[in-house]
Amino acid sequence: MSLIVQKFGGTSVADCEKIQAAARKAVRAHQQGHQVVVVVSAMGKNTDQLIDLAREVNARPPAREMDMLLSTGEQVSVALMAMAVDAMGYQAVSLTGGQIGIRTDSSHTKARIRSISTERLRQALDAGHIVIAAGFQGIDEDWNITTLGRGGSDTTAVALAAVLGADLCEIYTDVDGVYTTDPRILPEARQMVRISYDEMLELASLGAGVMHNRSIEFAKKFRVPIHVRSSLSDAMGTLIVDEPESRRLPVCGAALTSDEARITLLGVPDVPGTSYEVFSRIAEQKISVDMLVQNIGASGKADISFTVPLQELEAALATVEEAARKVGADQIIHDDQVAKVSVVGLEMARQTGVADRMFQALADAQINIQMITTSEIKISALVDRESARDALRAVHRVFRLEQIPDDIKRPDAPTLAEAMAGSAPSEADEVVSRLQDVVDMEQLTIDDVVLDDTQARVTIQGVPDRPGVAARVFRSVAQAGVFVDMIVQSHHGERDRTGLSFTVPRDSLQASLKATEALGKDLSFRGVSHSPEVAKLSVSGIGLRSHTSVGARMFEALAEAGINVEMTNTSEVRVNMVVDGARGKDGLAALEQAFAGFRR
Ligand code: ASP
Ligand code: MG
Repeated sequence: MSLIVQKFGGTSVADCEKIQAAARKAVRAHQQGHQVVVVVSAMGKNTDQLIDLAREVNARPPAREMDMLLSTGEQVSVALMAMAVDAMGYQAVSLTGGQIGIRTDSSHTKARIRSISTERLRQALDAGHIVIAAGFQGIDEDWNITTLGRGGSDTTAVALAAVLGADLCEIYTDVDGVYTTDPRILPEARQMVRISYDEMLELASLGAGVMHNRSIEFAKKFRVPIHVRSSLSDAMGTLIVDEPESRRLPVCGAALTSDEARITLLGVPDVPGTSYEVFSRIAEQKISVDMLVQNIGASGKADISFTVPLQELEAALATVEEAARKVGADQIIHDDQVAKVSVVGLEMARQTGVADRMFQALADAQINIQMITTSEIKISALVDRESARDALRAVHRVFRLEQIPDDIKRPDAPTLAEAMAGSAPSEADEVVSRLQDVVDMEQLTIDDVVLDDTQARVTIQGVPDRPGVAARVFRSVAQAGVFVDMIVQSHHGERDRTGLSFTVPRDSLQASLKATEALGKDLSFRGVSHSPEVAKLSVSGIGLRSHTSVGARMFEALAEAGINVEMTNTSEVRVNMVVDGARGKDGLAALEQAFAGFRR
């Protein structure tokens, strides 16, 4: 018998009418012959109100008591939902996280799910009940109530769908689906028919507020198909599955992270271990770092730049100051007036000329790029916050995101089956049986540690910091037919100049150098250097960014092996570090050892 998990967010259960409407959706699915589990959030802004109450009696409420309080919000809504179903003449039973047996760790207010027992759920479902499960909560080993972090009901829903081997997890919300970018910022944004897990993970961590990040990690890990849709209509929403929407277009979505800040350490001794010193401290503070760029040092010194969420700037600066003293950096500078514009797409890993199109679009809009980082499926550019919206519009337009990709069949009215397009949970049984042995469902999982020793690096020093320069460089390299892999543009202490590094296949090195040097007169950069053999070391898996310590662990392992890191980039699914080609194999061994405990 098929099983569906339906999740209703706070706005979809904000009052009694809405609860009844949600109950009708559950009943209808039940009538259609599905077993139904409904996961519910607290009504409306209830969780916020509870937090306000707590602060009135204690400015810093103990986390355990906070969870005791916050979990009551969902307890109210599940009971009402069960009553609403009962009033429609169907059997329903509401269950708290503890009653279901959702076991978590003990980190109150941000607990992670360890395991879920399915016995009670199965009994109730088999007895013909609609099960109404409280989202966002669990219990730890000692039966303390825990919560999963704000927005955590999504994670409960996908986790229940995973352990029950559900055919589909429906997320009912106040938007129609997932858009190519935030439609409140760009009205021309388009609702997608389908998006892949990896793309959704990137967009979610870039601030596309549609779903709780950790829920997508679950979905990917246990191959749960998700349907994000409006609770106000019956229209198709967006499916989050294995397959991207288009197998042709390089970019599926764009995102703007406006509250970003940049920190730069100038004049850091370029020896193994300095990055570890800095980033392990930041990871300990659970501050998530993005756009981490280390430029290739002149005279034995390097500059390290990275971005953090603006609200973490102060905490990050305090941490970095300590680290800077320890490693002997010359100076720390920062900028709190920046924003990050990113494009995401699974297909860009296989196409050339994607980055230069983005840079050209920004150049045409007269927008200066302050920093660049790329990963296999994402390109980010740091720009002045004032130009952020124009930057987003420019990149959204250049990749024609407002248009329906022409390889989608019947985009105007796809059926669920069509939208799923081969992404049905074919391995569901296999996944569920694998789950029996999983002791810790949300643990970081590493799929692969790999060495790519086919690449070379080109670095351009003293690049003028003005609109259009990166576009020129990568257009001419693309015209030479070269497939560029990693790109970083760093920030310098020096005014009006930046550094630009990229990696290319070794047999394209000469062509890349020629294309780059030819621009020298026009762009008046200071010089081009290169390394004919670099090694790219990658760790891939699930949860690489929500577990902030992955980058630090890599830096640590490489530092202990005495290996200097030349370039890095990070994404949700992969962290890459470029090191000297001669040290590739040693680096691989060091990383394999460091992550051995996390392999699945
Ligand atoms: N009620 C919780 C919150 O407001 C959980 C959720 O809505 O997903 O964060
Ligand atoms: Mg919510």
